[in-house]
Amino acid sequence: MTPIQGVLFDWGDTLFAPPDAAKVIAEAATARGVAISPERAGRIWDELWARGKTPEELAKGRDLSAEAHRTVWTSLFRTAEVHIPGIGGELYDRVMDPVAWTPYPDTAPTLRALKERGLKIGIVSNVPRDLSDIFARHGLAPWVDAFVHSFQVGAEKPDPRIFLAACERLRTEPTSTLMVGDHAVADGGSVAAGLRFHLLPPHEGHGERGLATVVEVVDASRS
Ligand SMILES: [Mg+2]
Repeated sequence: MTPIQGVLFDWGDTLFAPPDAAKVIAEAATARGVAISPERAGRIWDELWARGKTPEELAKGRDLSAEAHRTVWTSLFRTAEVHIPGIGGELYDRVMDPVAWTPYPDTAPTLRALKERGLKIGIVSNVPRDLSDIFARHGLAPWVDAFVHSFQVGAEKPDPRIFLAACERLRTEPTSTLMVGDHAVADGGSVAAGLRFHLLPPHEGHGERGLATVVEVVDASRS
């Protein structure tokens, strides 16, 4: 097996965890004097999230720019204002804005372990925003060699071009580069580009993401 020399990571649900949206909804309701149980807050969020995945919403071009992202998601979230007045914008800021996401407890140790082994590390994301300051804010930037954003490359995952652009930035061959992500289709597009792919299982909450397996995969390729 060719030894792995570079590792590319997806950002959301792979290295960073989303805020607890149901909790944000419940808190926003309380702040507005509206009584909403945690279960109901959870249902409101599940409904919004499910609608966010429909073809109608996806066709609105929300990943084309940071402004489009905010506008499209906020107008969807405003539909929850029948339950909680004025929640649309607040929900966007506290849940969808990458600034509100936090690294998993095993994110930093994994990046460090890979760096100590001399690997190149890249971030490959469809989020329409430069993520480098988000990594800097959590002290993770020194371990990242390249940020590869779809809005800059002009191709979104699963388009093979974004993975090839990332390999070029890392100066690694696709066959010696591992893509790590939580989305079988989007992140799995790396396979068509000739990379190796490690799919993380679905995960809830802010506990360890299971990223130690990435180091095991890398070590196995080099033994
Ligand atoms: Mg993801």
